Amino acid sequence: MGRKNMQVRLIRHTSSPEEIVAIGAKLCYSPVDVGELEAGIQKKDQGGFIRGLMDMGHLSPLEHASFTFAIEGVSRSLLAQITRHRIASFSVQSQRYVSEHSQANEDGVFGYIIPPRIEALGKDYVDEFHRQMETIQKWYDKWLVTLAENGGQAPEDARFVLPNAAETKIVVTMNSRELLHFFSLRCCNRAQWEIRELAVSMLRLVKEAAPNIFKNGGPQCLTGPCPEAKMTCGRMLEMREKYARL
Ligand SMILES: Cc1cc2nc3c(=O)[nH]c(=O)nc-3n(C[C@H](O)[C@H](O)[C@H](O)COP(=O)(O)OP(=O)(O)OC[C@H]3O[C@@H](n4cnc5c(N)ncnc54)[C@H](O)[C@@H]3O)c2cc1C
Repeated sequence: MGRKNMQVRLIRHTSSPEEIVAIGAKLCYSPVDVGELEAGIQKKDQGGFIRGLMDMGHLSPLEHASFTFAIEGVSRSLLAQITRHRIASFSVQSQRYVSEHSQANEDGVFGYIIPPRIEALGKDYVDEFHRQMETIQKWYDKWLVTLAENGGQAPEDARFVLPNAAETKIVVTMNSRELLHFFSLRCCNRAQWEIRELAVSMLRLVKEAAPNIFKNGGPQCLTGPCPEAKMTCGRMLEMREKYARL
């Protein structure tokens, strides 16, 4: 089957992210030079200082620490949502240069994502979804041939018949301030399921790399009232327990 599952890896991050954030922040309040600050910071745990900084709302030093993720097995639908985050940097597998043939699986169908709600309907519906993807692959293949025969840029134009379900691969880099903002929006129960699943996986990874920075990472209701007003999921306490355990 051409079906793909989400894979998320933290492939690089600023070394000693909490130290670099602490150096930046302490410089603002200290008369000493940066070398002296660095030496002092390496000697002791910066956890309390970073948490204090964040409680105070002094968030710009968080921009000194960046995190890069490799994300595979996600849909073009997710791509449309994550790329709305303008402070992030993206590299996305091209549908112009990479033909969906090189992506096709043993059964000849391009990689795709199936929504869990369709999967929950049972095997007959999953098979139906797969048949629909097979049909789209046939349309795509036909356009590749027609366009190539007529001297066109085949994958560039053939891709117009591909669905939102088509798999994509992304490398994304965000600094820790932007990540906290991203988590506040996308870990919320009101966010769409796929980007929420991605945001939770990313949060898990950065919590390991920088536990003090991301201690309160997650939907806004972890640290204050729900911003969704009448649209609230009403599960604030459950969310607080869930993210405390993450
Ligand atoms: C549940 C949910 C539903 C959504 N539904 C829709 C929808 O139906 N239609 C739709 O179009 N979008 C929708 N969105 C996307 C949403 O409108 C934002 O585009 C997306 O969440 C990115 O948020 P952002 O702009 O805060 O983030 P970023 O682009 O990462 O920006 C971070 C912050 O930087 C500041 N900033 C960035 N750029 C500027 C700028 N040019 N000027 C001033 N300040 C700036 C802002 O403070 C911003 O919050 C939805 C998002 C969510 C979470």
